[in-house]
Amino acid sequence: MADTSGVKIHPAVDNGVKPGNPGFTGGELHCKCGSNPVKVSVKSQTAHNHVCGCTKCWKPEGAIFSQVAVVGRDAVSVTQGEEKLEIVNKDAPIQRHKCKDCGVHMYGRIENKEHPFYGLDFVHTELSDQTGWSAPEFAAFVSSVIESGVDPSRMDGIRARLRELGLEPYDALSPPLMDAIATHVAKKSGALPA
Ligand SMILES: [Zn+2]
Ligand SMILES: [Zn+2]
Repeated sequence: MADTSGVKIHPAVDNGVKPGNPGFTGGELHCKCGSNPVKVSVKSQTAHNHVCGCTKCWKPEGAIFSQVAVVGRDAVSVTQGEEKLEIVNKDAPIQRHKCKDCGVHMYGRIENKEHPFYGLDFVHTELSDQTGWSAPEFAAFVSSVIESGVDPSRMDGIRARLRELGLEPYDALSPPLMDAIATHVAKKSGALPA
């Protein structure tokens, strides 16, 4: 059994995963600027919340995982500071809009209509003062934390801690999301009826 003491994943889960509120209907995200913060309104509960080990998602200072959820793009709108937003990489499938001043990613959007997740935006609900957002359910791209400089010898402890938190570790996305991607591909190719 790997030693999980002292393993930090993300501040939102390190003291235990807090359950979401099924009646929650959304809130407001704000960046970390002390003045004129970027504000984004999210008028819906989120889904598929998870911690992510990839090198692309925004992470708070010191965290080795991000926490990221999806929500319908129609529910997301910038309500303040839009002029401070810039796209991290216009060529990436997910266009992450970050605050130029503090670096926080306010939302990630898919513009390619052929993408399996078109219509969903990616958001970090920890940027909200409200509670009740959907709780993280799993850990994605866990092996990728090594790409950020985590020593491979720490991986047993990290995976054990994720399991202890009830966040099953996967090295890609969770099976339901991987199945959704494969179904999208199969319908496009004709392997499954559209
Ligand atoms: Zn900012
Ligand atoms: Zn990620």
